[in-house]
Amino acid sequence: MLAPHADALIGHVRANRDRYLDELKAWIAVPSISAQPDHADDVRRSAEHAVERMRTAGLTETAVLETPAGGHPVAYGAWLGAPGAPTILIYGHHDVQPADPLELWTSPPFDAAVRANKIYGRGAVDDKGQCLMHLAAIEAHLHVNGKLPLNVKVVIEGEEEIGSPNFEAFLAREKERLACDVVVVSDTAVFAEDVPSLTTSLRGLVHWEITVHGPSTDLHSGYYGGIVKNPLEALAQIIAAFKDAHGRVVVPGFYDGVRELSPQERAEIAELPLDPAKIAHELGVTELAGENARLPLERMWFRPTLEINGMFGGYQGAGSKTIIPSFAKAKVSARLVPHQDPEQVKHAVTTFVQRVAPKGVRVDVEAHGDVRAVETSRDHPAVAAAARAMELGFGKPPVFIGTGGTIGPVSSFDRILHLPQVLIGVGLPDDAIHAPNEKFDLGQFFGGIETMTYLYDELANALK
Ligand SMILES: [Zn+2]
Repeated sequence: MLAPHADALIGHVRANRDRYLDELKAWIAVPSISAQPDHADDVRRSAEHAVERMRTAGLTETAVLETPAGGHPVAYGAWLGAPGAPTILIYGHHDVQPADPLELWTSPPFDAAVRANKIYGRGAVDDKGQCLMHLAAIEAHLHVNGKLPLNVKVVIEGEEEIGSPNFEAFLAREKERLACDVVVVSDTAVFAEDVPSLTTSLRGLVHWEITVHGPSTDLHSGYYGGIVKNPLEALAQIIAAFKDAHGRVVVPGFYDGVRELSPQERAEIAELPLDPAKIAHELGVTELAGENARLPLERMWFRPTLEINGMFGGYQGAGSKTIIPSFAKAKVSARLVPHQDPEQVKHAVTTFVQRVAPKGVRVDVEAHGDVRAVETSRDHPAVAAAARAMELGFGKPPVFIGTGGTIGPVSSFDRILHLPQVLIGVGLPDDAIHAPNEKFDLGQFFGGIETMTYLYDELANALK
């Protein structure tokens, strides 16, 4: 249901669209490239710029916050004038990817230009534009009503594009200041134009390094061939034992805890527009592979994978060198889904490798990483509230999607704050983030501002 003041709020944000665009251009003009040390001052200026915009939006407790190990700063602001109401923490980032190769940009990356209802510039959608959606929506509430329906804290990080090396320590240090009921992250894309969507699951990650030791030195394959187990051959046998002919991992315990999709969830995925032949063509493969009894999107979002990332050993130079190599190595990783325990998966694969290793070689397995998958149930009141806000903002109920990758800050929020997270981003898949000609579709930008304007009312109602 629409809050009674929604008309005035929406009227306000529609009347101010040109100003929001000017603000986005001004922020894009600060080249806050976190990866390049000579732009460190620009990243700081960008944080100051964000804090200034928070102030004009009406946030009160604004500050540029330093990260623990002296990394790029975080812009912070809060409005805590609704005692007894829930508190949300909004996350975004103000740093950007490098802009090269510059010659492939149609207009300069840090001098944003609008063409065909899209704004082009580095950081337009990733993530300055999406941060501004929230600041515009917050400002609308404070300007029109003099208050927000709930307490808001805004954290805009400066190191997301370099893997958020200090963010987890920052969260741990600022735990009290950042206390909240739910985290709202706007740094993702929708499934497709005209398919509003909310991301409710992200896969986790663990990895291994397998070393197969054979003879103490490379051997002459003429003298010794026939009596010594070849480490590369042994490694190939181990790797080949991971999966059956249907692409299913046969490591005992690997799928422990993995939830089967409900018939409704599977039906929803099957409805999403996806053409396997087209994807195969774009990727340059003859056909898609994997667990062939399951839908491609299910395999990408809701099934774990076990992947060989590299295999090496033996002679790799020009011509031939007839040896039995002394060792072989493989790098292996698994993408995990909700309810898989990283420690248990690491143990299962390590044990399996030792068990299937052929005689005549010695095998070392080192396991690394412990990034658990993150999931927010679509039944959570905050997710339901976000879905209503998105429907109001885009005129269509959103679909629930997963993402196969890992988003560092989302994993950190999960690990340090243990809170439900709403991933409500409105980028489009063809926005060219991290690439030349990054853009933000203005329909998505303005629809996103309206969505966030509704979101705060919806969350206030859902979480009280
Ligand atoms: Zn981003």
